[in-house]
Amino acid sequence: MKKVISLVLVILVAVGAGLGIYFSNSNHSNNGRDDKNRLNVVSSFSIINSIVQEVGGKYVNAHSITAIGADQHDYEPTPTDVSRTQNAAIVFSNGLNLEKGGSGWFDKLMKSTNQKSVDVTSEIKTIKLTTKGVAGLDNPHAWNGILEGIQYTKNIEKVLSKKDPKHEAYYRNRAKAFENKLQALFEKWNEKFSSLPADKKILVTQEAAMTYFARDFNLQTYFIWEIDTESNGTPAQIKTLVDNLKGKNITSVFTEQGESTKPMQSVIKQIGAKISGELWTDSVSKKDGVVPTYYDLLNYNAKTIYEGLSK
Ligand SMILES: [Zn+2]
Repeated sequence: MKKVISLVLVILVAVGAGLGIYFSNSNHSNNGRDDKNRLNVVSSFSIINSIVQEVGGKYVNAHSITAIGADQHDYEPTPTDVSRTQNAAIVFSNGLNLEKGGSGWFDKLMKSTNQKSVDVTSEIKTIKLTTKGVAGLDNPHAWNGILEGIQYTKNIEKVLSKKDPKHEAYYRNRAKAFENKLQALFEKWNEKFSSLPADKKILVTQEAAMTYFARDFNLQTYFIWEIDTESNGTPAQIKTLVDNLKGKNITSVFTEQGESTKPMQSVIKQIGAKISGELWTDSVSKKDGVVPTYYDLLNYNAKTIYEGLSK
């Protein structure tokens, strides 16, 4: 009986290995394309994926590895994520320490699928973190700046065109159209933010996720914690912010979708301000949500902040 079982096991293992070879061969033979001959492109998170869809249109089969609302710092890829990554012609990442932190899940995924990712942040003038322990590293949240979003679009277009030169003109046109749309969005909000008095041009958030946005619109920024770590919103961090805001007439502050608002609640109790809205800083929403695309996200955040500060 034992012998029979082990024979069955040997056969199962052999069949399994055969299937493994079959699937990894199919990975090479599909050339990174789906059954409609579209380029398979995966991105580390939903915001990059949204820009890829803007530029890639009908010639790209685009997916985000981390699901909407999932934490990019500590993510456990599903079997579907692994096979999508394996079959991708391009893997896009943000870089600037976004995917490298946390559990190191992204590096592991790249290794196990034998892929290399392309960072979409090249040529962006980065803002450095200043908190002890992370000082000198780049703040990863460059996508929250509208002008930076134009550079993301350019970088993504270049990679798509290089990988799929047959549709280069198509990608260029779509990228240019999206860049123009973002430029117009920037002009629209820049006019409004420029009209605010200096003492209203102060943006207070929980995480320092809006520093690029603030740079674009000449706003000062204050935050409780600089980047997501194990210690978000400690009493010491809250005290530092409250001290820093002394003497400033802050009436509106903001929280981030997906984060507890408790730390900010305790700040506003001490400074007498109101939470004027929740910003979408790290993910687009579901299709039927408030910010289903990257463009929607930028516009929504600008509108929320402007309305809050102009009160
Ligand atoms: Zn963040």
